[in-house]
Amino acid sequence: MTDEATSDTDAPRAPWHARVLTIFPDMFPGSLGVSLVGQALENEIWQLDCVDIRDFGLTKHRTVDDTPAGGGAGMVMRADVLAAAIDHAREDMPDVPLIYMSPRGRPLTQARVRELSAGPGAILLAGRFEGIDQRVIDARGLEEISIGDYVLSGGELAAMVLIDACVRLLPGVLGANASLDEESFESGLLEYPQYTRPREWEGHTIPDVLLSGDHKRMAAWRRAEAERLTRERRPDLLADVPRTTPEK
Ligand code: SAM
Repeated sequence: MTDEATSDTDAPRAPWHARVLTIFPDMFPGSLGVSLVGQALENEIWQLDCVDIRDFGLTKHRTVDDTPAGGGAGMVMRADVLAAAIDHAREDMPDVPLIYMSPRGRPLTQARVRELSAGPGAILLAGRFEGIDQRVIDARGLEEISIGDYVLSGGELAAMVLIDACVRLLPGVLGANASLDEESFESGLLEYPQYTRPREWEGHTIPDVLLSGDHKRMAAWRRAEAERLTRERRPDLLADVPRTTPEK
């Protein structure tokens, strides 16, 4: 070993790897191919591939769904077809989280995004129709994650949301000046209001404190505003955050 040998932490990091299981692979990269996240894809900071679930479908029609047991509207994605697609997807990615995008899942949080972003990547299953057979969720230990309390027509957009949130935290994706730790949710609070030039617009001015150059006062104002907004809009977030301003 030479003096220049690198430690594990110095070793170049393998690209963060997102693999999406979908019946609509043409939807990707979609919005993930533009702007900073798209640039990072091009620069191989992260990589993306899709597994077409229909490749594991049955008969010459590549069928992936069937009628719901017990009756009811719509169709359900079959456990046998999905398991074959999942097992194939895991062959060279056995140790990454296996996630089913699902309105029934735990809400996606910035804390979970941070964890996923710090890992090697994720395999994301995008459902369609009325959802997927429960047995494959149980048998393959799928983590169910929701992006909000509303129902989309498919899991692809939800997978894109999760991937976008993870990728922007990867080293080298945002500019060197980006301040991630002051963003909404990072401190448990929503972000304070932002302003830029011009100084006056349609009679509205920028708060004096932000033009004062007094960094201590600016930091205190921003913190107070973040607390005010969080109290007004998301009081549920405040439980874990120590107050720095008196309650009004
Ligand atoms: N019947 C399901 C229900 O009521 O919970 C909704 C199925 S939805 C029409 C089809 C697929 O869209 C789901 O399998 C899931 O993959 C995805 N999806 C819909 N809403 C979502 C959400 N809020 N978060 C994550 N995925 C969602």
